[in-house]
Amino acid sequence: MHGLMMDTPLVITDIMRHADRCHGDTEVVSVTVDTPRHRTTLREIFHRARKLANALTRAGIKPGDRVATLAWNDYRHLELYYAVSCMGAVLHTINPRLFPEQVAYIVNHAEDRLLFVDPMVLPLVEKLWPALESLEQVVVLTDDAHMPSSALSDLVSYESFIADEADSFDWPDLDERAASSLCYTSGTTGNPKGVLFSHRSTVLHNFVALMGDSLGCTRRDVALVVVPMFHANSWGLAYAAPSIGTKMVFPGPKMGDGATLAALIKEESITLAAGVPTVWQLLLNHAREAGIKLAPLRRVSVGGSACPLAIMKEFVEKHDCEVLHAWGMTEMSPIGTLNAFPHGFEEWPEAEQDALRVKQGQPVLGVQMKIVDDFGRELPWDGKSAGVVKVRGPFVCSDYFKLGHPSEAHSETGWFATGDVATMDPDGVMQITDRAKDVIKSGGEWISSIDLENIASGHPKVLQAAVIGIKHSKWDERPLLIVVPRPGEQPTREEILGWLQGRIARWWTPDDVAFVESIPLTATGKISKLELRKQFADYVWPGAE
Ligand code: AMP
Repeated sequence: MHGLMMDTPLVITDIMRHADRCHGDTEVVSVTVDTPRHRTTLREIFHRARKLANALTRAGIKPGDRVATLAWNDYRHLELYYAVSCMGAVLHTINPRLFPEQVAYIVNHAEDRLLFVDPMVLPLVEKLWPALESLEQVVVLTDDAHMPSSALSDLVSYESFIADEADSFDWPDLDERAASSLCYTSGTTGNPKGVLFSHRSTVLHNFVALMGDSLGCTRRDVALVVVPMFHANSWGLAYAAPSIGTKMVFPGPKMGDGATLAALIKEESITLAAGVPTVWQLLLNHAREAGIKLAPLRRVSVGGSACPLAIMKEFVEKHDCEVLHAWGMTEMSPIGTLNAFPHGFEEWPEAEQDALRVKQGQPVLGVQMKIVDDFGRELPWDGKSAGVVKVRGPFVCSDYFKLGHPSEAHSETGWFATGDVATMDPDGVMQITDRAKDVIKSGGEWISSIDLENIASGHPKVLQAAVIGIKHSKWDERPLLIVVPRPGEQPTREEILGWLQGRIARWWTPDDVAFVESIPLTATGKISKLELRKQFADYVWPGAE
């Protein structure tokens, strides 16, 4: 017997309609290339989204067609988010920081018809133009007055593209399983792979993003959306904030600029922020050097890579700001786990608090999870057994877009192998120890590079730390600790190794410490172990031949 409840489709159009009607006055502030502080409202954004949908229809965009963006976080990008998906087309967000060959590959693979590009990123498109086979038109995200000069013909500004359009649009009734957006993940090997979100997956993920212990949006909050709209749908903030009426502040191209972020926090009264650890490190460095407090910031969501304890403690102790450590993947829309603290956490001894803080937390409702060994056998949730994390759920990808062959990550029917290695506590609190390919195998045992990095970066003279495995004649592999000292500091190898003593198992102690000026990052701001391994390809252990 079926229940007698309505089967209304779960579509992004309903998020837009709800936000327009109930939260139309909510302010949206953006830093763009042409305006230092642009102000608008959700009502105006949806008004312009209707004009945009008309302009896209006039340009021949049909349901299912891919419309690409190479853009920073700002109001025009938000208009594209809603107009493209709600007219039934697919918004393909591209990371401008990818290698140019990867951008060309994914534009062609996705068969993008139109591209909306930020003026700052136009030179990349000009360079790649002969290789971008499917593109019919390029729209520059600015107005006529700020159009950059370009070798490309037929360029049009966004403002003139939508200017003469009617501001009413008959949004179609969509199948909730229809594709809504597309984002490619760049693995360390092979070509990037497309994750194709649906309206249904996006709406279900939105409910999770809105849970009390999740991104934390309320109608009273002001959110600094640092996490890029070009990567994993800004962790769902571009849907969650309008859903509940949270004011959004977009830093545009200034997302990696600590001073701009600090100014926005103060001047726009920001209470919530979401981003990767490297961004928060920059913000904290700025606050430390400028001697300022990041008020009224009260909650920072951090994910994308393991957040060092030192970053979390600095937010809590110096800025009265709680940190929510989350884990996820583009393939999971992206939220997978949230590390929300239980009742009474404040009374726990500090060491126990710290031990929980560095974990990635419990699976969110809707995500099922298991850890498996090399043979695919399920491992116990005992806080000790480490295995590859597999997940499933209604906002986990079931395959990659046009891959052309079965995805290895989906080889077990109904499950997605994340490629992360983790332990699970009996109550489902997960701790990532490594990416499977970054695990250091020493004498047959695993050493967690993430744990080592976390502890090393707590040293007062260390700005950033990374650990890679280097071949070793006796142990197969041993850990090498790579350190960027804080400005003005010159820590010694002995000081750093001394700091680790007593904090880690003795046999985990790195065999050497290398000091560097900077650590290479990926296009999404994570430590690039691949690049580090290349840099240290010729490294020989002290005393070895
Ligand atoms: P992406 O799809 O590019 O966002 O990358 C997802 C990957 O980032 C995951 O598979 C993890 O390896 C890593 N990651 C995300 N969040 C965390 C976290 N909180 N701690 C450790 N690794 C993380």
